[in-house]
Amino acid sequence: MIFKVLVFGVVAYLVYKFFFNKKNKIGKDENEKIEDVMTPCPTCGTYISKDEAILSNGKYFCSQKCLNK
Ligand SMILES: [Zn+2]
Repeated sequence: MIFKVLVFGVVAYLVYKFFFNKKNKIGKDENEKIEDVMTPCPTCGTYISKDEAILSNGKYFCSQKCLNK
C-alpha cells in the first residue's frame, strides 16, 4: 500500500514537473522576444540587440570602440 502511494507520488511529481517546465519555457521565449530589441548605436548607427550591446549612460553602444569615441 505504501509502495503504491509512493509510485503515485512520483508520477504526480513528474507530471507536475513536465507542465511546470513547459510553462517556464513558454515564459522564457516571451521574455527573449521582448529583450531582443534592436537599437542603433549612437556613434556609428549600427543596429545591435540590447543583449549584446554595451550599456553606458542609458545608451547602447555596439562596441567598446564606439563607447570611447
Ligand atoms: Zn557603434
